[in-house]
Amino acid sequence: MSKNPWIDVSVPISNSMHGWPGNPPTFITMHLGTAKADVCNVSAINFNSHTGTHMDAPLHFLHGAKTMDDLPWDAVVGPARVVEIKDKEAIKVAELKKLKPKKGERLIFKTRNSAVSWKKPEFDKDFVYISAEASEYLVECGVQTVGVDYLSVGGFHKDGIETHHILLGAEVWIIEGLDLSKIKSGNYDLICLPIKFHNGDGAPSRCLLRKR
Ligand SMILES: [Zn+2]
Repeated sequence: MSKNPWIDVSVPISNSMHGWPGNPPTFITMHLGTAKADVCNVSAINFNSHTGTHMDAPLHFLHGAKTMDDLPWDAVVGPARVVEIKDKEAIKVAELKKLKPKKGERLIFKTRNSAVSWKKPEFDKDFVYISAEASEYLVECGVQTVGVDYLSVGGFHKDGIETHHILLGAEVWIIEGLDLSKIKSGNYDLICLPIKFHNGDGAPSRCLLRKR
């Protein structure tokens, strides 16, 4: 095993990063800078709770529901399975059935998004998402956590609200915005640590995978 087997699957937060259309964009400026003879470097950072690699709390779509404070560590630290999705439109029930999602599983979907969507100059509206029916199937299977490799579990054109409602309503914890371009399907250890926003509806997160 190499000395540093952990692979960072989070995207960098920067002014040029992709953001969800309509959400406040990321805006980072130099507040203090040694380049302008200040004594230190301090950045001013404006961003929203669903920036880059991040988690969704049930509160994101469900009024009065659980917040990021309620995240059980078990959902984001432990074994995870990365599965490759062939469908270039959506993650659908037929393909999921072959993958046999298990109760309590942390399941991470690698789609064409990792190779295509993140590489586009601007937000990709045609990213691969989890269909509403597939979300229901994941809930039936009792999956604990799902991870996806672009900015939403639901689609931009379709199933955006429905997929969130189904997964968050069942308290499936959601990791969005992963970059899985360096990851193959298989079994991994997962560490995903969201920023501690009090009562957060979501939070940017650092996510690491290590082959098991
Ligand atoms: Zn989100």
